[in-house]
Amino acid sequence: MTLQKNLDRAAGLSFPSQAVIDGKLVSAKSGKTFPNVGPRDGRVLNEVAACDADDIDAAVKAARAAFEDGRWRNKHPREKKKIMFKLAELMERDLEELALLETLDMGKPIRDTLSVDIPTAINSIRWYAEALDKVYGEVATTPAERLSFVVREPLGVVGAIVPWNFPLHMACWKVAPALAAGNSIVLKPAEQSPSTALKLGELALEAGVPPGVLNVVPGLGETAGQALARHMDVDLIAFTGSGDVGRKLMTYAGESNLKRVALELGGKSPQIVFADAENLDEAADAAAWGIFFNQGEICNAASRLLVEASIKDAFVRKVVERAAHYAPGDPLDPASVTGAIVSESQMRRVLGFIDKAPKEGAVLARGGKRVREESGGFYIEPTIFDRVENTHALARDEVFGPVLGVIAFKDEDEAVRIANDTVYGLASGLWTANISRAHRVARKLRAGLVWINGWDACDITVPFGGAKQSGFGRDRSLHALEKYTELKGISITYRP
Ligand code: NAD
Repeated sequence: MTLQKNLDRAAGLSFPSQAVIDGKLVSAKSGKTFPNVGPRDGRVLNEVAACDADDIDAAVKAARAAFEDGRWRNKHPREKKKIMFKLAELMERDLEELALLETLDMGKPIRDTLSVDIPTAINSIRWYAEALDKVYGEVATTPAERLSFVVREPLGVVGAIVPWNFPLHMACWKVAPALAAGNSIVLKPAEQSPSTALKLGELALEAGVPPGVLNVVPGLGETAGQALARHMDVDLIAFTGSGDVGRKLMTYAGESNLKRVALELGGKSPQIVFADAENLDEAADAAAWGIFFNQGEICNAASRLLVEASIKDAFVRKVVERAAHYAPGDPLDPASVTGAIVSESQMRRVLGFIDKAPKEGAVLARGGKRVREESGGFYIEPTIFDRVENTHALARDEVFGPVLGVIAFKDEDEAVRIANDTVYGLASGLWTANISRAHRVARKLRAGLVWINGWDACDITVPFGGAKQSGFGRDRSLHALEKYTELKGISITYRP
């Protein structure tokens, strides 16, 4: 694969632009569209159906009808599994196309979409397909004259609202377990990155997922997203995105039908490096990768680097050296390790944090500028600030860009105190060769994930999600199925 080949393929690519509702590709009822802007060069890639409350209502009605007549949930588990496997196979068939769509929509490098984003999404579909007949109910220890079963049943209609940073990957974290559990789904992709979700809807139909079971409805958050979250016939909103929108979703649920809400929100994740770490070079690799991978647009980005004071200056030099590796390039170039920021407004937001940090007393150690402006796209170089205080905006707010803040600490207690002094609690990490310290600190960190001597040690078998304002509910693992099902107790009374 070469840049030229990717440019040629991109030029001939057809971007999905219609919603998938009740098994059909349809335009918005209003006829309206919104422009899908590609961050690689700032140009409009295509016009996408701007669905609103009417389209959402049609999708929810289709999903409800599919659920009620049991065309999916009552299929033999073997059959459901076969269809989900087929979907994974079709995604693999179209891997290059999906990777190109995602790279152009979102600006991430083609090497990542080919090797991480799309394969991970495929793996989610396969993993939950394999799991769907392996999780079953209980027989309770009731008195002799009664036999009670506890069964797990699908919820009904699941509304999934997902962000732009890992468009297909996040969508499949929700669609795969929701489908495996027997639900019908209305998926609302982010307006910045609708293409692969729409393609997923089309591929699901080709794989044999019955019409109405997986509907994909593109549109703006305030219109399509809000209509889905306020709909009186949606049973759950499964959301990944910002805390601000998460709050709104809980309000919408309260003001409508008290639907359940599961929130995967942001983070300000600390990576703590103790002077006794066995391999400081590996820790420096992880510090750079933890913040610069995916242009820093990761909910679990290691955006606060806490380093023991005695090694801080030497360690920062190591991270600064490594940052050069993450200089942004053309996302279509197979050699690029990072690409463009998703949108002009997100780029401006990130530059705003860079501008503010020195005013609060932080010292720029590297980067700080917009680059590749001549491309028309939105690129920021990997940026590191030293001497950050945990009270600075850079340490408190989620930047969602390639900007690292370094904070020095003097001992273990202070490291834990600083790490936990945040409203977030998604991921955290620590580097030490002292096994007692590793366990002790891991238990004290208030976060959904703790990675010891490694960063982002993610696996589909381990639940992903946060504590505090990073949300609640878990994606990945068998625990994710709990979110998409409810328990029912069925009791038979008989004469013993
Ligand atoms: P966002 O909250 O702005 O948008 C997410 C989704 O919500 C989009 O589909 C958007 O259209 C929709 N939306 C916006 N307003 C809405 C409304 N009023 N009602 C209903 N839906 C609405 O987030 P974003 O900017 O797309 O993504 C970045 C955020 O996502 C960051 O905060 C990041 O940390 C978070 N994130 C979290 C995880 C996780 O698993 N915890 C993973 C990825 C991203």
